[in-house]
Amino acid sequence: MKWIYKVEAFLLDIFFPNKCPVCDKDIGYDELMCKECEKELEFIGDNFCPRCGQIKCICEREKLNYDRCFSFIFYKDAGKSGVIALKERHGTGFAEYFAIKAAEYLKENGLSDKIDIITSVPVTKRKMRETGYNHAHIYAKMIHRHTGIPVNGKLLIKTDKTLVQHDLSAEERKQRAAKAFRFICDENLVRGKTVLLCDDILTTGSTLSYCAKALKQAGAQNVICCTIAITPLGGKDKSADV
Ligand SMILES: [Zn+2]
Ligand SMILES: [Zn+2]
Repeated sequence: MKWIYKVEAFLLDIFFPNKCPVCDKDIGYDELMCKECEKELEFIGDNFCPRCGQIKCICEREKLNYDRCFSFIFYKDAGKSGVIALKERHGTGFAEYFAIKAAEYLKENGLSDKIDIITSVPVTKRKMRETGYNHAHIYAKMIHRHTGIPVNGKLLIKTDKTLVQHDLSAEERKQRAAKAFRFICDENLVRGKTVLLCDDILTTGSTLSYCAKALKQAGAQNVICCTIAITPLGGKDKSADV
């Protein structure tokens, strides 16, 4: 943690005691999670395909628009509670814990110097009005803090086009979902660049792929995805839906 953020955390702790984002227990001002919850996290390690990001590679059958994807834990137990806490606005420590891991991963894999800009999977305007908050962007901002790479959460928007679609076929639904993500910023920000796209969970990879498509249509050369948790395909959890 940079010294300025340590001071911020220390001062905040005086007025608002620091809590574990997973179990709500009091923790030290410089801690991001309690030891018990940390122990409960199930890490994926290197057991995933670096291209599609899945435990069981889907590269052969799915045409993905992103170039690389990495995650850290399985979406279960403390990992699941932490992601839910992040979605509900009080889990920033959880996002920072994995942002530190993401910064390390990027460094170890020689990617830190290659990434030009960090962005996140957007939420709809309606959701933003309801919560005032995009949890994926909190994760993106934390990665920016720990890497120094510029962050911009306004490159993409998500429209409400995916709603009310029970009467559509699976193919029509897919096409509609793809159109829900649009690039709305200055294309110079991504043209010929490598973008790090952040989200909380990787399920089928379709949301990330739609966002990557929009970024590439705007001129991005490479899109690397970075999520905190993974829901193995086949065991898809409904609450993990974006
Ligand atoms: Zn805890
Ligand atoms: Zn793969």
